[in-house]
Amino acid sequence: MNLEQLLDYLKQQNRFMTNVTHWETLPEKAAEYREFPSSVDPRIVEALAEKGIKRLYSHQAEAVEQASAGRNIVLVTPTASGKTLGYNLPVLNRILSDPETRALYLFPTKALSQDQYSELHDLVTRLEIDIRTYTFDGDTPVSARQAIRRAGHIVITNPDMLHQGILPHHAIWLKLFENLRYVVIDELHTYRGVFGSHMANLIRRLKRIANFYGSRPVFICCSATIANPKELAEKIVEDQVVLIDKNGAPRGRKHFILYNPPLVNRELGIRASVIKEVSRLSRYFLETGVQSIVFARSRMRVEVLTRYLKEQARKLSIPEKRIRGYRGGYLPLERREIEQGLRKGEILGVVSTNALELGIDIGRLDAALLAGYPGSIASAWQQAGRAGRRSNTSVAIMVASSSPLDQYIINHPEYFFEKTPESGIVDPDNLLILMSHLKCAAFEIPFHEDEQFSGVATREILDYLADKGVLRKSGGKYHWMSEIYPAEEISLRSASPDNVVIIDTSNKDRVIGETDLFSAPMLVHQEAIYMHGGLQYHVDQLDWDRKKAYVHKVSVDYYTDAITKTDIKVLSMDEEKHFAELELAYGEINVNTVTTGYKKIKLFTHENVGAGRVYLPELEMATASAWFNFPEHIAALLDLEESEFSAALQAAANILRNIAPVYLMCDPSDIRSVPRVRSSFSERPALFLYDNFAGGVGLSFKLFHDPLPTLQGGLSLLQDCQCQAGCPSCIGPELEVGRASKAGARKVLEYLLGALEG
Ligand SMILES: [Zn+2]
Repeated sequence: MNLEQLLDYLKQQNRFMTNVTHWETLPEKAAEYREFPSSVDPRIVEALAEKGIKRLYSHQAEAVEQASAGRNIVLVTPTASGKTLGYNLPVLNRILSDPETRALYLFPTKALSQDQYSELHDLVTRLEIDIRTYTFDGDTPVSARQAIRRAGHIVITNPDMLHQGILPHHAIWLKLFENLRYVVIDELHTYRGVFGSHMANLIRRLKRIANFYGSRPVFICCSATIANPKELAEKIVEDQVVLIDKNGAPRGRKHFILYNPPLVNRELGIRASVIKEVSRLSRYFLETGVQSIVFARSRMRVEVLTRYLKEQARKLSIPEKRIRGYRGGYLPLERREIEQGLRKGEILGVVSTNALELGIDIGRLDAALLAGYPGSIASAWQQAGRAGRRSNTSVAIMVASSSPLDQYIINHPEYFFEKTPESGIVDPDNLLILMSHLKCAAFEIPFHEDEQFSGVATREILDYLADKGVLRKSGGKYHWMSEIYPAEEISLRSASPDNVVIIDTSNKDRVIGETDLFSAPMLVHQEAIYMHGGLQYHVDQLDWDRKKAYVHKVSVDYYTDAITKTDIKVLSMDEEKHFAELELAYGEINVNTVTTGYKKIKLFTHENVGAGRVYLPELEMATASAWFNFPEHIAALLDLEESEFSAALQAAANILRNIAPVYLMCDPSDIRSVPRVRSSFSERPALFLYDNFAGGVGLSFKLFHDPLPTLQGGLSLLQDCQCQAGCPSCIGPELEVGRASKAGARKVLEYLLGALEG
């Protein structure tokens, strides 16, 4: 049986088909070729011809033309469409005509840069010309570093290394900065939220230093499909960028199946386990010898699934070594070996975290199984793109979990197959992030009094830093004062609040999960019952200073409900819009949260069977928020009692918070919602949606300007959910939100939509 036959067979299987919410068949597509632009050096044309590349895909040719003409570009085409050539060609071409030319390649991870190195190296070797390409990262031996600085034509690195290892030492990178013509930013869509806001500032510093040495590089960006690649690229490089998104690469026929595990408890909205379903499905592929990759969301799940797949293999008399796990934490040698095994077809099934989602070369497989929605549509496509050889049929199956995001996506195939709603959002002017990079920039080159940082006025912040003794002002310039490099203390990735790690002491101190700092007091306070993967754990201790919660497995007939107080204080209202009696505002708020105690509630009967007190510090954060101010008589307007309205508002807040990440392309924990039956600011009912990061990173700002998609998404998630009165897949479990709140939340959302749409 081949893959086509297997798919035909599955189509006949009732047990399989009842769980399929959508089956999309993407037809094969012929390639669109173009001749090499005349500007391309014949030596490159020849070297590529040896590799079997006689013509370019249309998008590659366009990329070469635009980038060679000195325009910034962003290339948005699918996985394995030959994007790499889109930047290697203009760069190599330029080096051939001017050997002094330098280029910098930025990849979000170390693994990716090493992979790109081998591809580039192969092409350069064929050219038989002295073009030096190097990776420069934490693993680069000190002895090799000098040669790279002096002679490297192309330096391949990652943002962290640029931030800490290159920019602060620009003087010894003189050759690079004097001659920097191209900067390649691959996987642009990964630079969003906090990381993206850091990246934009890093590029400001890079441009400032390049400018200092008299160069003005062209930026070549590549991105997965998102709603706003051009906007994101322009925010990160802060210049005009030409969008190239017409894919000229061929594609075999592809099946994309959305699969929802059956409900095992309709009332509680609990579905069959993703892990078990995926393991069951992968058996079909193993049986028919179809090479497949399984993506799991966590390292732990990779391990569990690898074990399950090995078991399946054993039953089918397939040697166990043909099934492998792959994730961060494996040694480089082992990873290379697995990648090679996949390319050669020796490995039949691999289970991976998103470590294999990005460009690492493992050849093309036949089937991709996604164990859960990977958190963004862009990622889902990249994972699915791992399956599909040039002209053969391939299949991707996404298996949903019970989470609201998974459920929404699995029931809205139009987002996959039509236009992605996800926008990459960054806020380069977030005060905390901006200030961090101004410190680094001041260390790199002293600031002039009237100097702007990529158009941002800096005087006020620099004066503040001078007052604090971090900078010294003399002769109209701000100088760095301290002995240490500021970059060493600033991480580009972990600017978000720390997480609390949850440790199971009844199972060899295994880490079973983590939770963000702001949720920890509610979820894992002392004596709480913490639910994880359908199991109950008792929290023995929450070690606040070390950010650890110690739990052990229990089986009890109650759950706990934390009593928390969240205070929201509006600090400033920066913008507002009026829709008849409804107001939508944007501004800065202060969020104060404290958990004071908990109730014990009996399962099924919901009797209150005890309570306790909790002593934890109050958490405070100033951040950006969008909020609705409702008319005073809203409850009556919606025909709800005051208490019903209160529950409805809470339920509506839950669902909006659950759905917002689809449009904002953020983690569910990046955005928070808080309902207020009476806001102390407006003295009216209000619903706040705020960035869960001090200072905000632009999420609620986007919500303020474009609230409709999130509201519409929330309403349709509510309507599509099959539960009766609330479940974990929509507004939250019924016993938390109350009996009538699903209907009430619907009224609130319909009211908001009606008001906004006028
Ligand atoms: Zn539901």
